Amino acid sequence: MAFVTRFAPSPTGLLHLGHAFSALTAWDAARAAGGRFLLRIEDIDAGRSRAEFEAAILEDLAWLGLGWETPVLRQSERMADYAAVLERLISLGVVYRCFRTRKEVLAGLVSAPHGPETLFFGAPPPRDEEAERLARGEAFAWRLSAAQTQALIGDRVFEDETGRLRADFARLGDAVIARKDFPTSYHLASVWDDAEQGVTHVIRGEDLRDSAHLHVALQALLGLATPIYRHHRLILGDDGKRLAKRDRAASLREIRESGVTPAGVRKILGLA
Ligand code: GLU
Repeated sequence: MAFVTRFAPSPTGLLHLGHAFSALTAWDAARAAGGRFLLRIEDIDAGRSRAEFEAAILEDLAWLGLGWETPVLRQSERMADYAAVLERLISLGVVYRCFRTRKEVLAGLVSAPHGPETLFFGAPPPRDEEAERLARGEAFAWRLSAAQTQALIGDRVFEDETGRLRADFARLGDAVIARKDFPTSYHLASVWDDAEQGVTHVIRGEDLRDSAHLHVALQALLGLATPIYRHHRLILGDDGKRLAKRDRAASLREIRESGVTPAGVRKILGLA
């Protein structure tokens, strides 16, 4: 069986030990399977992405001993593709414009059936109200309706590290998949690119375990193959919280400058 996996960082800061763990886990899995390893730069957020962070990511990954195929896919160059994919979802009638402000969204949250968090489920505004708000140029987000998705595609199963499971399309509520002036979100771009790049195994942190349910919904709606998902543990800082880009001490840059070798990084991460 073909094995294609990827590491998909956002160039909004320096890589830290958590990224190194994710990249090495995917890289090791590709090597063990005799498969392919791809790198994808997820820079849809033009306001936060920086060329110097992208350069630093490539340098840090090469230092760790990783190699990848070129050209590297850069999401900022693919906005027209995402806009076309969004149009397909609009024509399927599974997305709606949500004009609610953040405060209004928070006020409309309901308890999730499966956990303590709260989720948003909404509905499109009445036609004339929508037309008026559009005419006024108001900002909106495109949300994927979990209920419409379920009605259109029925049940789907997929595989992650816990086994085979039925996708719960409501797992993230009616998720935002694009905005008025931004034809995509992480979810849509990532799903589309994984399919375009022929990714068979998505290996990433367990913070994205719930997102896989939404990703399976998008794949079913768009007629894309569903990869196998493998979520790995997160690397925590000394405070027990997951590492963030602002934790400079854990940046690979800093670690490397302090004299730690790539083998040393593997050791710190528990990767032999
Ligand atoms: N750009 C995403 C991140 O850095 C990638 C998530 C994924 O692998 O799907 O979290």
